[in-house]
Amino acid sequence: MQKNDFIELVIEDISTEGAGIGKYDGMTFFIKDAIIGDRILAKIIKLKKTYGYARLMEIKEASPYRVEPRCIYARSCGGCQIQEMDYQSQLEFKQRKVRGNLIRLGGFKESEIDQLMEPIVGMDYPFAYRNKAQFPVGVNAKGEIVTGFYAGRTHTIIANTNCALGAAVNEKILQNVLTYMKETNTSAYDEKTGKGLVRHILIRYGFDSKEIMVCLIINGRKLPSADVLVGKLCTINGMKSISINRNQEKTNVILGNETTTIWGEPTITDTLYLRNTEDFSRLEEHTSYQISPQSFYQVNPVQTEKLYSLALAYAGLTGKETVWDLYCGIGTISLFLARHAKQVYGVEIIPQAIEDARKNARLNHISNTVFFVGKAEEVLPAFYEKEKTASDVNADMCHPDVIVVDPPRKGCDEKCLATMLKMQPEKIVYVSCDSATLARDLKVLCAGGYEVKRVRAVDQFGMTVHVESVVLMQYCGK
Ligand code: SAH
Repeated sequence: MQKNDFIELVIEDISTEGAGIGKYDGMTFFIKDAIIGDRILAKIIKLKKTYGYARLMEIKEASPYRVEPRCIYARSCGGCQIQEMDYQSQLEFKQRKVRGNLIRLGGFKESEIDQLMEPIVGMDYPFAYRNKAQFPVGVNAKGEIVTGFYAGRTHTIIANTNCALGAAVNEKILQNVLTYMKETNTSAYDEKTGKGLVRHILIRYGFDSKEIMVCLIINGRKLPSADVLVGKLCTINGMKSISINRNQEKTNVILGNETTTIWGEPTITDTLYLRNTEDFSRLEEHTSYQISPQSFYQVNPVQTEKLYSLALAYAGLTGKETVWDLYCGIGTISLFLARHAKQVYGVEIIPQAIEDARKNARLNHISNTVFFVGKAEEVLPAFYEKEKTASDVNADMCHPDVIVVDPPRKGCDEKCLATMLKMQPEKIVYVSCDSATLARDLKVLCAGGYEVKRVRAVDQFGMTVHVESVVLMQYCGK
């Protein structure tokens, strides 16, 4: 067996990255775009000792779980990994992924996890769910300005203004921006040379408010003939904010630090509703958030409502509790919690997000929140060490009833976990976008006296391999 050989195999499993897994001659092969149950012809592209990678060449017999993708770029685009898998199978895959990580990396027993894990919360309609998209701008082989998405693992732009996961309004906005660029001879940024002006088009859409924000990220100080762009965009129904963001660095980071509003408001507002955690119907209680181009705001608002409602239910608040919300972003979870707690303390590394969190508290007439700027692993230990012997309100902060964490993919820092263990809240609610780091962190917390009580995966990202989870841990004093 060698590179470029053709092999026929049946796909038996799927990797955490969404590749089909099949066996041939005792070797395990990973094949992108192949689905469990497919019998395929594949070409070997890389061989290691016990495993290899192969390219899907022909589907000999299609899996019963295979569906026609919505988007013609489903295979080449880096955005979706599993669009050709029917949605129910996607949910089963994600449930298995979280379960598998908890067992393999968290050291939990299979029987224990099967007893604890509730069914994954799926989406009613797994398309057009994203409220935010960042489209790179470039030039195609013919020299025309294009926008779309990066192909998987590359920075080649696939021209596509009609992403199946995005809001319907994106297409019209992108077409208008492209027309503006052509009419005014405005150049696209070239990553290789670092020359050219327009780098990305950021669009945010408030699903509840129907408000739209457009931000052009430019490699320069000024957008030429900005009035032409504004003229084209401001008549779109719901347009609320048009801005430019300056990023003159040669970097993969999309946004720079400086944003100027060129039309309308600097922010849009959106509202999230509390949901009943039995049937996920919307309740009356709601919280509104002002969102700026830089803010972190969950991309799937419908599923976010379900996720936050579960986090709140897991926290089991009665109104008397002191709660920390670590990695709080613009205070989204903090404000959900604040209506049901005595006091909520949020910690977030990005100063702008904390400003937004404070503004959002005022916007919602919530006065029992305090937000701190800094790293959770620095703010929390510093506060604890200084105040652990305090007798006033700081004592409550050092010994909170509940700690909620919602870290980025890399999970919680060890120092953060160690301080949480010292603070010994009765409950820890862990919201996670990466079940591998979640499992690793739960292991540490369990060794420190906590027990996992509830686990539930929530699908925020249909058609991709990503999945959110929410976990309730309780102190059991072992
Ligand atoms: N809970 C919020 C944000 C979750 S995303 C929400 O649901 O909207 C994770 C957040 O953690 C981001 O806002 C990121 O800026 C922040 N963050 C990343 N590293 C951090 C750290 N070491 N300490 C505190 N916050 C951090």
